[in-house]
Amino acid sequence: MSGALLQVEGLTAGYGAAPVLHEVDLTVQPGEIVAVLGANGAGKTTLLRTLSGLVKCTHGRVLLDGDDLAGTKVEHLVRRGIAHVPEGRGVVTELTVDENLRLGGLWRRDRADARVALDEVYDLFPSLAQRRTFAGHQLSGGERQMLALGRALIGRPRLLLLDEPSLGLAPKVTRHIMTLLRDLRARTGLAVLLVEQNVRSALSIADEGVVLALGRVVVRNRASVLRDDADLRHAYLGF
Ligand code: ATP
Repeated sequence: MSGALLQVEGLTAGYGAAPVLHEVDLTVQPGEIVAVLGANGAGKTTLLRTLSGLVKCTHGRVLLDGDDLAGTKVEHLVRRGIAHVPEGRGVVTELTVDENLRLGGLWRRDRADARVALDEVYDLFPSLAQRRTFAGHQLSGGERQMLALGRALIGRPRLLLLDEPSLGLAPKVTRHIMTLLRDLRARTGLAVLLVEQNVRSALSIADEGVVLALGRVVVRNRASVLRDDADLRHAYLGF
């Protein structure tokens, strides 16, 4: 569709000779939240890793604002507005909250705006503001997830690739993070490609849902349809 922020066409990718992803098509519009769902090993993490340039795409195209990203270096993807928050979160546990957040702004040319963005992240996550000097390893799982998210937001991304934000978190913390994502989208127009095992949570905030099975897209539909269609849910989402 024209005007898409991200367009993935026939994407085939993997780690060795045998691809993990086969002919994946998906689209993310500006400000849209798209949930990527599917069983363990379906290829969800590999999809995010391919979109952020960590896994090589062997066939197909990834377009950002209509431009083919083939061969684009990771740092340029970041400059163009793609931020990846990996599963496990990637917080540097020896560094403080403040140092971790500043890492998110290191590559920014606009130093003044990076400082403004840092203050905004502290406004968004008051519990991080209270723990600026705490080391990463002193934080709870939920705080680490917020720190990883906050670090990505310092770059003012247009597209967040978010891998399993609810992993290991209590339901209340998961709900808080989902609400935050929805509010951020409403406020800043952030688009999110959200990989989640927690299907209900993901579909509660997503506009679209994409179900992967063995590296292929088997369902692509409005999130409301996936939420409300019991047959689809039983067949592909296991609830
Ligand atoms: P999970 O929810 O368990 O993280 P997933 O849907 O994210 O699953 P991936 O992690 O993308 O799935 O894994 C898809 C396939 O790719 C699996 O068969 C996995 O064994 C394989 N795979 C993942 N990472 C690597 C790697 N670094 N090297 C080789 N194969 C890998």
